[in-house]
Amino acid sequence: MDFDVAVIGGGTAGYASSVILGRRGKRVAVIEKENIGGTCVNYGCVPSIFLSELSFLYSRIKEIGNYKGINISVSIDGSSFFNKRDEIVNYLSSAGENLIRSSGGEIIKGEAEILGKNEVVINGEKVTAKNIIIASGSKPNPPQIEGIENAVSEDEAVRIKKIPSSIIVIGGGVAGTEIAQIFAKLGSEVTILSRGKVLKELEEDTRKIILEALEFDGVNVIEGVVPEKIKENKVVSSKGEHEGEVIVYATGRVPSIPKGASMIGIESTRNGIIVNNKLETSIKGIYAVGDVIDKEKRVAHLAYIEAIIASLNILGSCEEMDYEGVPQVIYTDPEIGVVGDKRKVEKYVKFPYTANTRAIIRGLRDGFSLIGIDKNGTIVYSEIIGDNAEELVNLMALAIRKRLTIRDLAFSIFAHPSLSEVMLNAARDHFDLDVDIYK
Ligand SMILES: Cc1cc2nc3c(=O)[nH]c(=O)nc-3n(C[C@H](O)[C@H](O)[C@H](O)COP(=O)(O)OP(=O)(O)OC[C@H]3O[C@@H](n4cnc5c(N)ncnc54)[C@H](O)[C@@H]3O)c2cc1C
Repeated sequence: MDFDVAVIGGGTAGYASSVILGRRGKRVAVIEKENIGGTCVNYGCVPSIFLSELSFLYSRIKEIGNYKGINISVSIDGSSFFNKRDEIVNYLSSAGENLIRSSGGEIIKGEAEILGKNEVVINGEKVTAKNIIIASGSKPNPPQIEGIENAVSEDEAVRIKKIPSSIIVIGGGVAGTEIAQIFAKLGSEVTILSRGKVLKELEEDTRKIILEALEFDGVNVIEGVVPEKIKENKVVSSKGEHEGEVIVYATGRVPSIPKGASMIGIESTRNGIIVNNKLETSIKGIYAVGDVIDKEKRVAHLAYIEAIIASLNILGSCEEMDYEGVPQVIYTDPEIGVVGDKRKVEKYVKFPYTANTRAIIRGLRDGFSLIGIDKNGTIVYSEIIGDNAEELVNLMALAIRKRLTIRDLAFSIFAHPSLSEVMLNAARDHFDLDVDIYK
């Protein structure tokens, strides 16, 4: 079988590349060993955000009832809850398959091994192509401890079929914290075992709010603990034994580099395949995109833009990746948005939700926006905790990518009353131009 482009992996990056190239007349083969949609659709963003949406809604309804003195009786119908999640996952995966096919792509099921610069083999069948895109993603990295086979990965945890009575989560990073809070809200007894501080990259003020929220939801957070082994349903650690019906590890991910890649000279580190700023590997004509490459952040929206850049380069453009201002959202309650490089920050400006008219009208809980600027006043970093942080962080991503200054933001005009004004007024406060009365 001969194609213009062979794409290894049908996740966010592979799927996007194949549709973009197919629509522009290239004959594309997408080789996928599991389901189209990859981690994001099948084990990541989609099932985990579905669970957080519903679990947060469930806890809010109970909270509102208590707060307003209304007796609301709510309960979860476990089977329809998890069936709905699977229905959405299956819908998005098959919609992805349809779009690949309707844009002219061919889906080949199986595991791809790279044989040469223009050659891939799947279940003994050879595929040749002028270009190869490696979009094979990443996989969970289990801790190397005895008994780990008794635990499930973060990917498996978000596809669980029953709400467990208790869960031990090993790992206090983004995935571990999100999973812990979801199941605590659904009624499980949850403990996080974290080697360092939970969500350690965040500013202390942000961590304080999220730790309080976890405590409010009943999550038992144990920091500075080293898991030593797992004995059936118990984690034995440096701080004692922790028992849970389900044990989850969310201890980072490693790249899934296809077999044969290093044999043909594709260079990589432990963190992924090395690419240049055009996303070409050390072998000319072979590109790599998404979680499989050596980079700082593994998120779906980065995989998507990398797919755009690599595809346009295959089509003859000369596009380069700009990694400035990649937003990340931590889908906890409250949400956290983070963007930029805090190593460049000279000064922070901060604005509380309690002084934002829209937040006051909505009766929102604690939250704030934090904007970091460098010595020239250029916006280089932002951290937002509170409702709609997932949207506000995109505003700051644009500001950082366009190298806007704090003055540009302060003299912008945002609609009133809106939550976005927590960003605007942080900037105005910097010039002593904010006149909110509630601060
Ligand atoms: C629990 C969880 C929650 C997440 N939440 C978010 C979120 O909210 N927002 C966000 O932006 N990101 C989130 N992510 C990260 C996001 O899922 C990834 O960044 C994204 O899926 C990367 O896309 P990709 O195409 O590079 O890789 P993947 O989506 O992993 O796709 C790679 C595909 O390649 C296939 N494959 C691998 N090797 C081969 C081979 N040799 N032959 C054939 N096929 C192969 C795999 O089966 C897979 O389908 C989350 C991840 C997890 C685990």
